[in-house]
Amino acid sequence: MNSQAAAGGVLTIDLGALADNWRNLKARLKPGAELASVVKADGYGLGSEQVAAALAKAGCSSFFVARLDEGIRLRKALCKGERIFVLDGVLGGTASEFFHHDLIPVLNEPGQIKEWTAKADGKAKAALHVDTGMNRLGLSLAEFEALAPALDGAGLCLLMSHLACAEERENPKNAQQLERFNQMRRLLPPLPASLSNSSGVFLGADYHFDLVRAGVALYGVNPTPGQPNPMAQVVQLQGKIVQVRDVDLPETVGYGATHKVAGRVRIATVAVGYADGWPRSLSNRGFGVLNGVRVPLVGRVSMDLITFDVTGVPEGTVHPGAFVTLLGEGALVDEAADAAGTIGYEILTNLGPRYFRRFVGG
Ligand SMILES: *Cc1c(COP(=O)(O)O)cnc(C)c1O
Repeated sequence: MNSQAAAGGVLTIDLGALADNWRNLKARLKPGAELASVVKADGYGLGSEQVAAALAKAGCSSFFVARLDEGIRLRKALCKGERIFVLDGVLGGTASEFFHHDLIPVLNEPGQIKEWTAKADGKAKAALHVDTGMNRLGLSLAEFEALAPALDGAGLCLLMSHLACAEERENPKNAQQLERFNQMRRLLPPLPASLSNSSGVFLGADYHFDLVRAGVALYGVNPTPGQPNPMAQVVQLQGKIVQVRDVDLPETVGYGATHKVAGRVRIATVAVGYADGWPRSLSNRGFGVLNGVRVPLVGRVSMDLITFDVTGVPEGTVHPGAFVTLLGEGALVDEAADAAGTIGYEILTNLGPRYFRRFVGG
């Protein structure tokens, strides 16, 4: 049995579009700036090993993950001397793992710096995270001022911070963080610097520094919300129709009887549910595309199934085994996210393990 036939949904990941997105972003950077790829959370849910290999082939030589475990797995997939930064940094007792797997910790707080300088003794590289207004990870200005004179032994290769509102071009917080970052940079001898995520690319060259850490835009999510998406769509998700039925007044569809049919309609039941990461908040709000026709998701999203009103689709084309496109064919990740009351990041990272995954364009 081929697993495409056995699965309820097919997730197609276009590695060619991913590589195009990397080149697109890279071309927008100021000359000499490096474009690193953020492949945390299994490459935003798409498969970090395949994604990172495709990006490395496109020319990317620095990668960021969140967890040490993700870094260890990624090192096995790359193993060619690409730099792998671990955003969590060196949590207690893990320094030797960084040496062993050739990973670079992002040191976030004084305890991590202490641990690293004691264990690495200047022989291994680390990045330093300073906080410029996010108040999540990184040294505060006061901590940084106190520690800056003693950072010689940390083997620093990058000074970084993170923007809180980069996707809001007009937000004054961006300029405030930029200024604080420049102020903090001056407290250390010259060191390569990094401030921006995907959206930061579009804030202008002042935000690019030596390295940009792009994540979501590589995967096709719009880094400039409210404006046309400059990125190519990477993900296509298709759900398989399990059953088609005609329903007439006064019937209802799904749990809670939340959808009352308005007359005689045709309902297609598709083998994707919230257990596959298709948000329950899309109940009576989502849509799919069937043979080029947009079809509304009606009734509640259940664990394994969703139901579409396919009355508007030419007969004959709607049958068990046919696919309803949930992402792709003009159905954008951002659009599904908006309808679900979330962001594209969450739609992608929730894409579940039950899909048959297909990588194309690699
Ligand atoms: C996740 C993350 C990124 C990537 O952000 P995108 O908005 O996906 O481009 C960059 N830097 C840090 C510190 C992150 O945590």
